[in-house]
Amino acid sequence: MRILLVEDDPMIGDAIQGALTDASYAADWVKDGLNALSALDTQHYDMVLLDLGLPGKDGLEVLASIRARNNPVPLLILTARDSLDDRLRGLDGGADDYLLKPFDMAELLARMRAVLRRKSGSALPLLGNGVVSLDLLTKQASTDSQSGITLSSREFALLQALLIRPGAILSRSELEDRLYGWGNEVESNAIEFLIHSVRRKLGSHIIKNVRGMGWMVSKNV
Ligand code: CA
Repeated sequence: MRILLVEDDPMIGDAIQGALTDASYAADWVKDGLNALSALDTQHYDMVLLDLGLPGKDGLEVLASIRARNNPVPLLILTARDSLDDRLRGLDGGADDYLLKPFDMAELLARMRAVLRRKSGSALPLLGNGVVSLDLLTKQASTDSQSGITLSSREFALLQALLIRPGAILSRSELEDRLYGWGNEVESNAIEFLIHSVRRKLGSHIIKNVRGMGWMVSKNV
């Protein structure tokens, strides 16, 4: 999953980006609102983490611009502002949740999972299609024949990207976009290699190849 972090404070931004990377997210970090909007114009993101106090364009204005473009990306506000009014304006302006600074990284990650769950209409931290399920908390996969299968960070990210929309075909470049942030060098056969290793662990039927188009997991059964 690819996350856009919008934060002007270098220490906080660095800490959050590190925590996101450790949690298997691909995280792109911008330090002001204009760069946030141009990143969102050119790249698919699964979630935005938005600071409110930003230089130039204020976080609430950035939020308004995102929603004015009909971009439904899940969005979590990170704010040091303890004014109730700002928080309400954020939620009413289309944010999915907010977190008051300072916060613990574990809480940020839990709130992100909760927002993603609500958006996907599931109450549990699980993604699945009836053939394979993925526990977003333990990052383990289960199939009919095995449970609690440990995945590497990238294997988890690959399976997560596919299980968010079972039945949807993702091309190599779409998968690369979801798995790798700016500055991550992508080897030309990295996606094929990951698909091979997930199939080896979970069974070759788990990920289907659609010739010339990409890969998918079967629709819910
Ligand atoms: Ca700030």
